[in-house]
Amino acid sequence: MDGSAHMKNKFLACAAVALLIAGASAARPLPSYDLLLRGGRVIDARNSIDGVMDVAIKDGKIARVAPGLFAGDAIKTIDVRGMVVSPGLIDLHVHVYNGTGEKGSYAGDLSVPPDGFTFRSGVTTVIDAGCAGWRNFEDFKDRIIDRSRTRVLAMLNIVGHGMRGGKWEQDMADMDGEATAKMAQRYPNVIVGVKSAHFGGPEWKPIDEAVIAGNRAKLPVMVDFGTDQPARPLYDLLTKKLRPGDIYTHMFSGLRQEQDPATQGPSKAFVEGRARGIYFDTGTGGGSFKFMLAAPIIKQGFKPDSLSTDLHTGSMNSATKDILNVASKMMALGLPLPEVIADMTAHPARQIKREDLGNLSPGSVADIAVISVQKGKFGYTDMGNTRVDGSQKLVAELTLKDGKIVYDLNGLSALAWTAPPGDVRQDSRWTIFPRPDPALGVTAR
Ligand SMILES: [Zn+2]
Repeated sequence: MDGSAHMKNKFLACAAVALLIAGASAARPLPSYDLLLRGGRVIDARNSIDGVMDVAIKDGKIARVAPGLFAGDAIKTIDVRGMVVSPGLIDLHVHVYNGTGEKGSYAGDLSVPPDGFTFRSGVTTVIDAGCAGWRNFEDFKDRIIDRSRTRVLAMLNIVGHGMRGGKWEQDMADMDGEATAKMAQRYPNVIVGVKSAHFGGPEWKPIDEAVIAGNRAKLPVMVDFGTDQPARPLYDLLTKKLRPGDIYTHMFSGLRQEQDPATQGPSKAFVEGRARGIYFDTGTGGGSFKFMLAAPIIKQGFKPDSLSTDLHTGSMNSATKDILNVASKMMALGLPLPEVIADMTAHPARQIKREDLGNLSPGSVADIAVISVQKGKFGYTDMGNTRVDGSQKLVAELTLKDGKIVYDLNGLSALAWTAPPGDVRQDSRWTIFPRPDPALGVTAR
């Protein structure tokens, strides 16, 4: 070896060492995305999207929605071809003030813990419909809202004690619009409405006070109209008392003049209420949904503005079950898939004035439901235990909350246990589930 060749070799060796050092010390550039959901049918009503696209997620937010994104740009890519990719579902009417130990009370035993019911049906946000009033809201917040992985928002009951039972809910002295508005204004990111429910008397006080609270705090009012009372007809509620943007829930209960007895279609109160801008919500619950109303009213073109469950211990195992069962039921009654998705995403978000939720706009929080549409023979029931047969059923496959997988029915995001070890070293910021541990030997080579 002559001198120059020796120098040349020495130079190359130094360069190689320098490159190695640089490679080891400089942080490896992160891929552009944390997670890529590839090839699903994206339905995003807010952005008028219904087509096969990829959805890219980064730092808990939607980064991009477009066809043909490059898998190499993401830490993790999941094939969701043949499935629907929806914004995380919003259930506008649930009861989740669980855990106080109060018997026979929606501020207690009749409520359910949200995380046990939400992600497994594609839901990432629930709105508790009036379990708590201004007196017990902070206990509800501490006990449930602040400790749940589900995003729990609330409508304050116009009754200060909330839904603790008849003795409290019928007490007109505890219906205070001013106090309710004050509490709502203290928690503007969490309290999204005012609720009146279960009232039996002929007076308008619960509605009037709820509207006072709604005006003060600039929030919508949701009404469960309680006992049907001739002194306060549904027509007056929907055409005079409520304001455009307020919400009538239990729309297909048949308990309060919802249906026109002659045509079987929507009552005059419904038609004129909708023309004024009142929203109509299903809140199917345990005893608030009948096919004998829903089928003809929908057939005559009067469709819900939002699909909600009214989830509680009396509805979780009966006809309602969960929000995707309600949506599948509505599809059996003729509502198309894109419409039921919109009724669980963009539409309820608009009703509670939280249009930051329920969409897949870049920059939005990455709450996502991946849903499969199963074909077969399915049965759907109502409060009278009558049945409608359907040929489609929506099933939650994969749910993401804040950009992380929180539910995965069939292990779409999991690795085969025989996968090569390279895969287990992946950054797993896109999931709450543990990554496979090479020490367990399942991936060792
Ligand atoms: Zn309810």
